[in-house]
Amino acid sequence: MGTLSGMPLRMWTYDLAREQSPTLDHLRRFCDLSLESGYNALGLYLEHRFDYPSVPWSHGIGCLTPEMVRTLQEEYRTLQIVPFINLLGHFEGFLYTEAGYPQAEMSFQGMQACPSKPDFVELANKILDDTLEIFTSQIIHVGGDETQQLGACPQCCARVTEYGKQAGVDGMARLFGEHFKPLLDKVVEAGRRPGIWGDMLHAHPDAMPLMHRDTLIFDWQYFQSAGVTSQKFRDEGFDVVYCPTLHVYNATWLHLPQSERNVRENAISASADGAYGVCLTTWECALFGNYETLLPAIRASGGIIQNSEENAPSIEAEGESGDGSPIELDYRQERKADAFLKAYLKEGEAYEEWARLMGVELQDAGGPFEFGGIRSGIKCRMLLYSNPFLLWLRHRDALCGPIGDKALGLFESGVAFAPDASARGVSDFGKSAVMFVRFAEESHRAYAKGNAAHAATALVPCRQIFENLTKIARSNHLRIGGSLADIERCHVAKEHVERAMRRIKQYGDGSLGYLPSFEMITHPNFMPHDQAAWWLINDWARE
Ligand SMILES: [Zn+2]
Repeated sequence: MGTLSGMPLRMWTYDLAREQSPTLDHLRRFCDLSLESGYNALGLYLEHRFDYPSVPWSHGIGCLTPEMVRTLQEEYRTLQIVPFINLLGHFEGFLYTEAGYPQAEMSFQGMQACPSKPDFVELANKILDDTLEIFTSQIIHVGGDETQQLGACPQCCARVTEYGKQAGVDGMARLFGEHFKPLLDKVVEAGRRPGIWGDMLHAHPDAMPLMHRDTLIFDWQYFQSAGVTSQKFRDEGFDVVYCPTLHVYNATWLHLPQSERNVRENAISASADGAYGVCLTTWECALFGNYETLLPAIRASGGIIQNSEENAPSIEAEGESGDGSPIELDYRQERKADAFLKAYLKEGEAYEEWARLMGVELQDAGGPFEFGGIRSGIKCRMLLYSNPFLLWLRHRDALCGPIGDKALGLFESGVAFAPDASARGVSDFGKSAVMFVRFAEESHRAYAKGNAAHAATALVPCRQIFENLTKIARSNHLRIGGSLADIERCHVAKEHVERAMRRIKQYGDGSLGYLPSFEMITHPNFMPHDQAAWWLINDWARE
């Protein structure tokens, strides 16, 4: 088991695909950190954020280039730099470009390309050929996760139906397997080791026989150990990489206790099971995530992974969730984060205190701050949907009450303890979210009483909030390659607040003959005189 050198794989992945624009120096920092922390591989999760020479239309500015990869490969010969491309699901970055939209499985919906379209199969092969040409790594990861639209288009549906006519055949498994088989075989023929995510093989195990035997299955399990789930892959003779995560995507910052537990459980059972290795994933540092603030946690994870290997025989795998409850519930009570906090302490006492406030105590505030299984509602509603009033609409009771008081106190302490601009930006973002909702609520109360002038004035500080967040987003970009879209999101939010203020002044006096609800007048789709909100009321008509 293990890599060519005989050592188990110890990797973490950097999620470029979520709008990150690292410079070569940022990438060097990640490589240095990897080697110092005991990793022998760094995964670069690319999707559309790589300058594929054969697909010049596929990537925006600030993406990773072949030159950067070649430089890093030259400078870091002991670190395997592993590309993570995606050749079916998570193709959204390609599908929402003018050149790419014809390859979609469903028009203007979802993130999967259509495996029945010859043009897409050719495109997938071009992406793979470029990757094989530029990256010298032993492992080439071809993606394959979250292909929930399998069989959605008429051609794919016909194939699934046709395959399914044979007794006992899962048509979707066959569709998935037939798409990936030649791509995995190509990687093997190039003398490399293909990797694929495990989730669709869990859902469609009949696809396994179509996967080349040398395929590494990356079993991502963020609420338990892959030791619990990967037995069926190992039984079929596949090498498995156990993949924990840093819980960033579902946090205002990062849920430290659950992340540490997830890393530890996966590292221990990977060792005990003789797995191929461990791959720590990190996802979604757009929406005011910040990679610089994750580096101590990534470092601590490297230590945990290495330690688990060395102490493997004496330690039993832990953390199986056997009570039948949703698995994230089992993680919710976790509060220990000793190893992670120690890594922050190494960077200074203030950093440890900041990490404890933002990573451990904040989730105890409850409401939208507590640990959960999906993307943080604070991040999405504040910025992703171009309408920050959604945060007020969904969380005003929580954020205007004791939950908001507690969170605000923690964010203010966080701003005070933050050791650098990156950490301060994280706390400032959280504080801004709570403050925005409170200003919006003040505006709503005045609006409901018919005081349009006060209602509009109450929103004035919100413009300042988004101006300040714009500066933080710029700083995140410069310091660690953070999202350029976040800067634009702040502009759009500020403009939307100004638009809402204008509408409130114009229509808040009842001049339409009716007073639109505050949630309606602050919505981007609000249309004067469309009192019944026709654009909203039929789910089936929602475009
Ligand atoms: Zn299709």
